[in-house]
Amino acid sequence: MLDANLTAQLRTHLTKITHPVELVASLDDSPKSAELAGLLEEIAATSDQVSVRRDGEDTRRPSFRIERVGTDVSVAFAGVPLGHEFTSLVLALLQVGGHPSTASPELLETIRGLEGDWHFETFVSLSCQNCPDVVQALNLMSIVNPRIRHTMIDGAVFPDEAEARGVMAVPTVFAGGEVFGQGRMTLEEIVAKLDTGSDERDREVLDARDPFDVLVVGGGPAGSAAAIYAARKGIRTGVAAERFGGQVLDTMAIENFISVSHTEGPKLVSAMEQHVMEHEVDVMHRQRARRLIPATEAGGLVGVELDNGAVLQSRTVVVATGAGWRSLGVPGEQEYRN
Ligand SMILES: Cc1cc2nc3c(=O)[nH]c(=O)nc-3n(C[C@H](O)[C@H](O)[C@H](O)COP(=O)(O)OP(=O)(O)OC[C@H]3O[C@@H](n4cnc5c(N)ncnc54)[C@H](O)[C@@H]3O)c2cc1C
Repeated sequence: MLDANLTAQLRTHLTKITHPVELVASLDDSPKSAELAGLLEEIAATSDQVSVRRDGEDTRRPSFRIERVGTDVSVAFAGVPLGHEFTSLVLALLQVGGHPSTASPELLETIRGLEGDWHFETFVSLSCQNCPDVVQALNLMSIVNPRIRHTMIDGAVFPDEAEARGVMAVPTVFAGGEVFGQGRMTLEEIVAKLDTGSDERDREVLDARDPFDVLVVGGGPAGSAAAIYAARKGIRTGVAAERFGGQVLDTMAIENFISVSHTEGPKLVSAMEQHVMEHEVDVMHRQRARRLIPATEAGGLVGVELDNGAVLQSRTVVVATGAGWRSLGVPGEQEYRN
């Protein structure tokens, strides 16, 4: 199933595994199960640290777990994670096998400290470009904190389940059987949603910020441009953004940005963020402004109240909050968007 090039790349990647891993398959006699069995055998053939078992007891077939031998560290895939999910599979093999993730140590510490038992299930399609980020984020969380469990489910392999659970768009994430979120989500966003103490901690830190000369609300292209322009003048500049990158994060092909014949949304956002960070800009991620408090005297400071109650102060505020989809609430709306 893997061509020679992919097999060679996989062999190189899997040399980074430091703990043996087992691929525990739950199969039946369907062609999809035969396909999955073939893929798992090919993967195992690329590394001495990887072996396959076929005695899995998962009710979804075909599916498999990647388990770190002798521990309770594991992630699960229902279906055959090829297409856009192949990267998620390779990363899961590496991370279950002990290779460290590139997430920041602070974020990993927060994940380790998350309270409660969580069972996530993510419905994907193999052609979905927003799905791998979500799958990889939840896989990593389940590897770092064994009280978190995650299963990727290919909706095309389990269409009856997807229909019965009302999955209209991918990715759709369930936690404990209830819808947890839909669409692209970053690791930071998922962790912030679970970390109930984070609002209070953020509020204290943000309340203590000195006043800005220019505070930009919004971190899309408009907000980023405003922040770069201001910071280049050497004035104290901040950005408070609910979701840095804005609508560009949801865009795949961009072909009308002069001087760049083709780029992709996530790539453009990463370059945009790097450009902003080259200047002295205080970027406050995942912060939603709920109210402007006008200055009460000439030359006074404007306040921006955030959802967590913190108030940022600035001489000037630029509101660059962009636009969002309005929903009509009609059947098929999520499914056929774009
Ligand atoms: C699927 C899709 C494809 C597209 N394709 C193209 C294309 O190919 N070419 C093109 O030119 N344009 C395209 N666009 C449009 C383009 O992305 C937008 O015009 C552009 O992103 C607008 O930039 P903006 O900074 O004004 O707003 P946005 O990108 O909407 O950014 C708004 C920012 O404000 C933040 N925000 C909103 N409310 C608050 C609040 N209360 N507090 C704090 N922060 C807040 C958001 O989180 C975000 O960071 C596309 C858009 C979409 C959705």
